[in-house]
Amino acid sequence: MFGGEWGDTTSFIPAAQAEGKVVVIRLPKGPDGRRDHSTVDRNKLTARFSSAAAIAVSEMDYLPAGYIEQNYAEPVPSLKEDPSSSVRKPAYFYVTDAVADEMLGTAIEGAKSGAVGRAVSARILVNTNTAPGRNVLAILPGADPLLRNQYVVLGAHDDHIGFNQRPVDHDSIKALMMHAAPQGADGPDPKPTPEQWVKIRATIDSLRKLHPSRPDSIYNGADDDGSGSMALLEIAERFATATTKPKRSVIFAWHVGEEEGMLGSSYFTDHPTVSRDSIVAQLNIDMIGRGRATDATGESKEGKLLHGGKGYLQLIGSRRLSTELGDLIEATNKHGKFGLNFDYALDANGHPQNIYCRSDHWSYARWGIPVVFFTTGGHADYHQVTDEPQYIDYGHMSDVAQFIHAAANNVANLSHRVVVDKPKADPHGMCQQ
Ligand SMILES: [Zn+2]
Repeated sequence: MFGGEWGDTTSFIPAAQAEGKVVVIRLPKGPDGRRDHSTVDRNKLTARFSSAAAIAVSEMDYLPAGYIEQNYAEPVPSLKEDPSSSVRKPAYFYVTDAVADEMLGTAIEGAKSGAVGRAVSARILVNTNTAPGRNVLAILPGADPLLRNQYVVLGAHDDHIGFNQRPVDHDSIKALMMHAAPQGADGPDPKPTPEQWVKIRATIDSLRKLHPSRPDSIYNGADDDGSGSMALLEIAERFATATTKPKRSVIFAWHVGEEEGMLGSSYFTDHPTVSRDSIVAQLNIDMIGRGRATDATGESKEGKLLHGGKGYLQLIGSRRLSTELGDLIEATNKHGKFGLNFDYALDANGHPQNIYCRSDHWSYARWGIPVVFFTTGGHADYHQVTDEPQYIDYGHMSDVAQFIHAAANNVANLSHRVVVDKPKADPHGMCQQ
């Protein structure tokens, strides 16, 4: 069945009509009149047509050269469904216009929404491999004989997105993303204007004067999440060497597989090594090494680019389950004179960047555990080979780490566990920011 054109929800067939069907989706036209794949959001399509047998997006003819090799040459572990979940997702695949035409029995170009095509029979072959993965956990026992049976979890992820088979030129990527994709991979693919090409070439030329081409195939993830996982190590050391220990116990959790769909944190929260109810809060640290005035840290809900600056820190989800926890974080900054400036813009309900659902804290929040996500936000090197240590703002990262230490200490020393005063989610349901 032709389901409509992405980007125009009025063209979509009603969700109920998709039940059991293979829903074929057409791409919208970009400003240049060509069909444009760059805005298609798999999660949104899957949520909209959740009862479909499959979703087929006709985008193979419109992908840039090298796109498939770059993005789909590796297996995708996140295709795996949680067997304990009642949520079933439709199969999702990409086709050429020729295949879409065959399925619909008419040209997709002029297809009308709801038009029923031919019966499709398909065999979906899945190659299953297993690979080792482990969370690294440490517990600092609390000082109070009663409260030590409760835990504050501090977390970060220790994985990133791997490497490319084909190296790219570091400085070219740096210049391209800086001028034409300020949010890195968290935004549309770069399509430089003639003015931007002038700036890109000038930047590459100036870098070439400093050193020869630097081919690179490794995604180092210095900010994502080298910054968080190393800050967590520093915070753990400070807790462990202090003469006074907090009243509650603290769990330090380095989660694996965040980039593959929060595999480590969802496993740990489904199979916790302490009673789940004894976890009073989780503080998640993911990307705290940037946030300069020159970094595009995200967008406002209206789509305006945001930037960092002195003391910049984004807080996500801090009042989504516990108002008290959100207030405590604010009070820690104020009374401890940390001088941080909190940006809550990305925490807005229904924000299109959906950050609340995109890092390990969600694994905890879905079980009703209050969370705070600390991040200095996005930047042009996000999920690029250029996310490297030389671009980290270590002074700022240190300030943020000291603040998170103080915040964790305050949660761990509170006379009572932070009060949950907001509705809890369905632990096996889909996250809704
Ligand atoms: Zn991350």
